[in-house]
Parts: sequence; C-alpha cells; structure tokens
Amino acid sequence: MIKPDAVAAGNSGSILKMMEAAGFEIVAMKLTSLSSKLAGKFYEVHKGKPFYNGLVEFMSSGPIVALVLKKENAVLDFRTLIGSTNPTNAEEGTIRKIFAKSLEQNAVHGSDSAENAAIESSFFFSMLEMKLEN
Ligand code: GDP
Repeated sequence: MIKPDAVAAGNSGSILKMMEAAGFEIVAMKLTSLSSKLAGKFYEVHKGKPFYNGLVEFMSSGPIVALVLKKENAVLDFRTLIGSTNPTNAEEGTIRKIFAKSLEQNAVHGSDSAENAAIESSFFFSMLEMKLEN
C-alpha cells in the first residue's frame, strides 16, 4: 500500500516505478481511501498500542494506493525495498528512506508474511480483480 502521506505528496508514480524496477509485477491496483473504521480493522494487531489512534487517524486522512504485487520471494524482497519502519534507520535507497516523513507517516506498507499478504490482498480486492481462480 502507498500510504496517504506519499499519495498526498505526489510520490505514487515514483514509488510505483521503484517497485517495478525491483522486479515486482503489479497484479492489482486501486486508488481508494480507508474510513477510520476500516483503518482500525486493517491495523487491528496494533490495537491498544500508544500509536494506534494516531495511526488510524493518519491512515484514514486521505487516498491510498492498494496493490497486489507478485515476485519470487516477494514478502522479504519487498521489506528490503521499503526499508525499516522508522525512516531514520532505513537503509539508503529504500522507499522509506527516500519518501517517508516520519515513523508514522512512512510512505508505504508491506505485508510481513505470505499469510498476511493473502489476508490483506482480499481486504482490498475481489478474486476477480486479483485474477485468481479456484
Ligand atoms: P511495518 O510492518 O514496518 O509497517 O511496521 P509495524 O507493523 O510495526 O507498524 C505499522 C505502522 O504503524 C508503521 O508502518 C507506522 O506507520 C506505524 N508505527 C509503528 N510503530 C510506531 C511508533 O512507535 N510510533 C508511531 N507514531 N507510529 C508507529
């Protein structure tokens, strides 16, 4: 996901370009936005943490770009491409190092496991949109 800070700053195109240059295929993509209820659900795992309410407010503050990306070893390689959660610690050349505004407003989200990637993809996209068949 490209988060509201990066979409608002006009960085979506540059970030998509970095994803494609790193070998990720765009399987599904949409510009949409999260209500605070949906943002709260998306980040439910962080409920109760001190940053949760601020995170929900930020994530529902404006449009986001939701994406399903495909690549061998996608989860790990995408985490490498985006860099550490805190941009201060992110490696040079990573998306967060280049585009993040702060620890909270850190430009992009990436799934942390294949299992969560499947859950998060179906949060935004239907089977039809993901071109999945069963
Ligand atoms: P990620 O998987 O790298 O996105 O990191 P997490 O799952 O741990 O956290 C989810 C999101 O919550 C991060 O991407 C940040 O936007 C935000 N976040 C995480 N930790 C903090 C924190 O300590 N303070 C604040 N303000 N936001 C945080």
